[in-house]
Amino acid sequence: MQKLRSKLYALNLILERKQIKMLETSQSKQLKDQEKIIAKIERERTKKIKRYQEKTAQNIKNLEREEKGKKVVEYKKKPKSRGKEFQKLLVLIQKKRRLECADENWYCKCYTCDNIRHWKWMHWWHFISRAKKNTARLDINIHSQCPNCNAFHYGRPIEYKEQFIKDYGVEKYVLLLEASKQEIDKNYYNIERIEAYAKTTKEIIKKLLALQT
Ligand SMILES: [Zn+2]
Repeated sequence: MQKLRSKLYALNLILERKQIKMLETSQSKQLKDQEKIIAKIERERTKKIKRYQEKTAQNIKNLEREEKGKKVVEYKKKPKSRGKEFQKLLVLIQKKRRLECADENWYCKCYTCDNIRHWKWMHWWHFISRAKKNTARLDINIHSQCPNCNAFHYGRPIEYKEQFIKDYGVEKYVLLLEASKQEIDKNYYNIERIEAYAKTTKEIIKKLLALQT
């Protein structure tokens, strides 16, 4: 009886500790979420202030123009840059790729060596340089890589090519090379399409992140 009681007591203690740990993690998650919300509000506030300052500057300029008898210029929000939006999209795609390369425990194997790390600590590598815009956005061109291969071995291109051909075959390698030589169709990849692409990628990331416990 005594033994059973002490066993129960020990079990209760473990349970209590687990509950405390769960509580702590949920609290830290809440704190992190709060920090994110505050940061978002701050970002939006800065944007609003910037817009207000630009508008005021334009108004002052207009007053001066009016005095000189010149035509008043209406304030217009700066149009989004296609290049910047494309770079933002690439950031999203590499995040998605790292999540996709991860196993069920969210660990990725380096594409060019045996290193295994949590996806958050992995780097990524564009097989064909991301300066080649036509292939920079392709999933097949991006794989997770450990920081060692990525930063200290320039992406280990020889091993990368070997692994790529093993995974996808020579035909795909040739196709990718050919595609990289072509210019990206700027009419097709306009801001609207890039934004739509980014939106879908964001949704996929959100779904993948939701699967993590
Ligand atoms: Zn590696």
